[in-house]
Amino acid sequence: MLQTISAFDRIGEENAFAVLARAAELSRQGRDVINLGIGQPDFRTPDHIVEAAIKALRDGHHGYTPANGLPECREAVAERTLQTTGIEISPDSVMIMPGGKVTMFAAILMFGEPGTEILYPDPGFPIYRSMIEFTGATPVPVPIREENGFAFSAEETLSLITPKTRLLILNSPANPTGGVTPKSEIEALVRGLEAHPQVAILSDEIYDTMTYDGEEHCSLLTFEQIRDRLILLNGWSKTWAMTGWRMGWSIWPDGLYDKVRKLAVNCWSCVNAPAQFGGIAAIRGPQDAVDTMISAFDRRRGVIVEGLNELPGVSCATPKGAFYAFANVRDIGRPAKHLASELLEKADVALVGGPDFGILGEGYIRFSYANSEENILRAIERIKNYLDK
Ligand code: PLP
Repeated sequence: MLQTISAFDRIGEENAFAVLARAAELSRQGRDVINLGIGQPDFRTPDHIVEAAIKALRDGHHGYTPANGLPECREAVAERTLQTTGIEISPDSVMIMPGGKVTMFAAILMFGEPGTEILYPDPGFPIYRSMIEFTGATPVPVPIREENGFAFSAEETLSLITPKTRLLILNSPANPTGGVTPKSEIEALVRGLEAHPQVAILSDEIYDTMTYDGEEHCSLLTFEQIRDRLILLNGWSKTWAMTGWRMGWSIWPDGLYDKVRKLAVNCWSCVNAPAQFGGIAAIRGPQDAVDTMISAFDRRRGVIVEGLNELPGVSCATPKGAFYAFANVRDIGRPAKHLASELLEKADVALVGGPDFGILGEGYIRFSYANSEENILRAIERIKNYLDK
């Protein structure tokens, strides 16, 4: 057996992919599995985006692009940032990345090493913790609580900062909870962070377009006082239903930009050229398909929350963002991961157990409502029948 460096023994997984693989296997065996497990829109990428990428291929865009991305693609991101946040950024602060995840990877790699601490949301996207452990840094969970509407608390977050803290990871709207942190809480956090200038901030805003009930997304980019230590993660995967294209972007402060550009040169060289043309069309083209998708998510949100709250032993707070409902299943009295796996194996409904998102996820199951209303209702019916047995 070859021995790798120990970091590879600490690297984790994203269990949603394992659930997806198992659901696909059951489907191949002829089972009619309803997938509320995976976090990706069930919509196709809008046609004009697909056409722009095909045209780019036909026009001969087959070579490398600059490592930081095509200038036009970075300009498009700067235009969109101005539209959505009111903040003018330079296209030279934008990195085009092969997916949202890669920004996480780069940022955590930049700040994590033994003896340092990195704060991350728990429950939260599992790759944060996995990457922190990979670097040898100490992962410090910031509790995300149902009683706080699944928003992060500024006070609790600030209380966890020590002189060893190098990076703070924030995520709103959030996976897996659908929580949206209110502007007032973010303002309080930013005020508190002024006392900790050694702490860099990674704000994962990949669900920025998906908020409901009039809730407004508040970007960390709007706070001038932390701009010199803020890394903003965003991308095309969710908003334009482009998860398989592997297209993300991030905005970096001056001192870090060249480091991440060099990481790109050393690792992925650049993002696939036709995909970047698709990305430009996504930002500059019509947004009606995005609006239609988000309205559909909003309707499904109502359907799933109502259905879940009718199940015995289940209670589900109404999520304010993303496309996830994080249902409290404590009263069912079984470990959440077991329950999620029983529901897949015995009721043909694919879900992800809360503990796959962190220790504080115990007692919860994540339902991705990126599926049709009809399938959501069928899934609820199946779960009900299973729980009634
Ligand atoms: N950040 C969060 C909070 C996510 O939920 C996801 C995907 O599920 C990502 C980042 C990664 O996105 P991408 O598929 O573009 O790598």
